Amino acid sequence: MTSGGESLKQELEALQKEAKHAFTQALDLAALDQLRVKYLGKKGSLTEVLKGVGKLYPEERPVVGRNVNEVKDDLEGYLEICRNVLKDEQGLLRVEAERIDVTLPGRSQMPGVRHPVQAGLDEMSEIFMHMGFEVAEGPEIEDEFHNFDALNIPPEHPARAMHDTFFIEGGDDMLLRTHTSPVQIRAMLDGEPPLAIVAPGRVFRCDYDVTHSPMFHQVEVFKVGRGVSMAHLKGVLHHFLNAYFGRDLPIRLRPSYFPFTEPSAEVDMGCAICDGKGCRVCKGSGWVEVLGSGMIHPNVLKAVNIDSEVYSGFAFGLGVERLVMLKHGIPDLRLFFENDVRFLRRVGR
Ligand SMILES: [Zn+2]
Repeated sequence: MTSGGESLKQELEALQKEAKHAFTQALDLAALDQLRVKYLGKKGSLTEVLKGVGKLYPEERPVVGRNVNEVKDDLEGYLEICRNVLKDEQGLLRVEAERIDVTLPGRSQMPGVRHPVQAGLDEMSEIFMHMGFEVAEGPEIEDEFHNFDALNIPPEHPARAMHDTFFIEGGDDMLLRTHTSPVQIRAMLDGEPPLAIVAPGRVFRCDYDVTHSPMFHQVEVFKVGRGVSMAHLKGVLHHFLNAYFGRDLPIRLRPSYFPFTEPSAEVDMGCAICDGKGCRVCKGSGWVEVLGSGMIHPNVLKAVNIDSEVYSGFAFGLGVERLVMLKHGIPDLRLFFENDVRFLRRVGR
């Protein structure tokens, strides 16, 4: 039979093994703490073993007592390791649980685009600039001289009534310009021929329906110099329309009447929508009317002190909205001014 000391030592070893195994099985810190109480607490297993020491022979007590303390130190150290492992695990679990998915797509900023009309104005001006025309601008509030008189539209002329003019109240003869042609007058008064000018801008008329807006845009183009002819006019028009629509479309000039040109011509272009086959836009004719043009009337040159015996010139005015509508197949002029972002983004640049 072994001595009491020997059996106590075996009991201790078994306890140490069992406790360590239990510690490693603990799933969380609370469970581990319960195990601490169970093995190392005041009423724990180790204390029970310690009680047995008192029953040993006196010479055995110090050895076994030391053994008990060694086991206690060992178990406490092991407990601490297990505790740290659990803390790390729980920390990782919490990090996992609280993780923010930074890959979530952000709210994107919508980059703006130029308004379709502005984009059209810029594009048209650029084509003329490539042909050597210079950009000029004039005031939107004009006087009757620049808007009418100098353009061969005297006060009694019926064309004045056709322009549906907005007059400025209390401004004597001040008005909102009804076309960009006054820029012609200003440029010719300011400079000497040869002149080649493109004048984009806003104009105003008292009119509002599917194809008319009280405010719309024109590009005025004219050239004055020696020997300028209808051939130049047609060449410039053809080049411009091809460049703007990006393909070779036929043009034709029809005799017409404008007070400020002589001869005058309406310009038709092969329908860009149906390629001349006939559609709703061209009313089945295969042609669409795009602008009015002509050779600058001698009376206009006279009004700006240019000798019409020496110089001649051509002029035409483009309706910007009309050309943008034809290019993009836009059915209603009012879309330009309703500020529907979906429309503006699709057609603007
Ligand atoms: Zn057509």
